[in-house]
Amino acid sequence: MIDWQRRPEAPVRVDCHIHLFPDKLFAAIRQWFERVGWEIRYPYRTQEVLALLKGWGVECAWALTYAHRPGIAEGVNAWLGELRRREPMLRGFFSVHPEDDNPAAVAERALDLHGLDGLKLHAEVQQLAVDDARLDGVFDLMEERRKPCVLHTGDAPYPETKPNLDVSCVRERLRRNPELVAVIAHLGAFQTEQYLELTRDYPNLYLEVSFTNYPGVEPRKPFDYAILEPFADRLLFGSDFPNLTFSYADQADAWWAFEWVRRDAEAFFGGRAKGILS
Ligand SMILES: [Zn+2]
Repeated sequence: MIDWQRRPEAPVRVDCHIHLFPDKLFAAIRQWFERVGWEIRYPYRTQEVLALLKGWGVECAWALTYAHRPGIAEGVNAWLGELRRREPMLRGFFSVHPEDDNPAAVAERALDLHGLDGLKLHAEVQQLAVDDARLDGVFDLMEERRKPCVLHTGDAPYPETKPNLDVSCVRERLRRNPELVAVIAHLGAFQTEQYLELTRDYPNLYLEVSFTNYPGVEPRKPFDYAILEPFADRLLFGSDFPNLTFSYADQADAWWAFEWVRRDAEAFFGGRAKGILS
């Protein structure tokens, strides 16, 4: 019997990848997951999500959003800014859409008016490539302000890499914005090796680990976690809570089980993330 509410043994202090939405949108997203046959184990709304995280010892969570179509980023960002003001444990990551009239202006308002902390883009859901020239102004702003960008750019779970999900898009973006603080979600799966190589050239590039190592599920492509160890100082813990089909604690503890993670647990489970936002 899985205890879904179990507190992880891992000392998770900052979770760099959670999702919060207005209640109506949460409901719509859950329906979508149900249709594709995913059993979400934590079908909760914002207040319950935050209460659970606090109960598990999580002190800070990065709330990620996305604008799945043009014209909605501003509203999503305003909502998130309001929530962030009320919830001291939250850091808020805003969205932009390349088809908006002026994405850089949306980003500037997100930082200066809505008080948000960073940008989140989801290349697959938003049907964009991070090297799209229409996003140049956004990334120039983020680089100049040294604000982090969480980029879900990996090609998993697709068997073939779509052009907009190839690591080359991130490589090109970093060529243009070499100082950008970028956090690649889900270890950039399935192109993790190439992303790890990129960290050698870009000191502000990090990889976040959610949805890549959890018990009971065979990886769709074989992966040797030992290749991560030399890059341990670029890894951040994130969970993708609450949209999980497995236990939060099991996922965190699967990382905690690695000796090389334990050696620097304080940084992996929070300290490094705090440094990025300070
Ligand atoms: Zn996510």
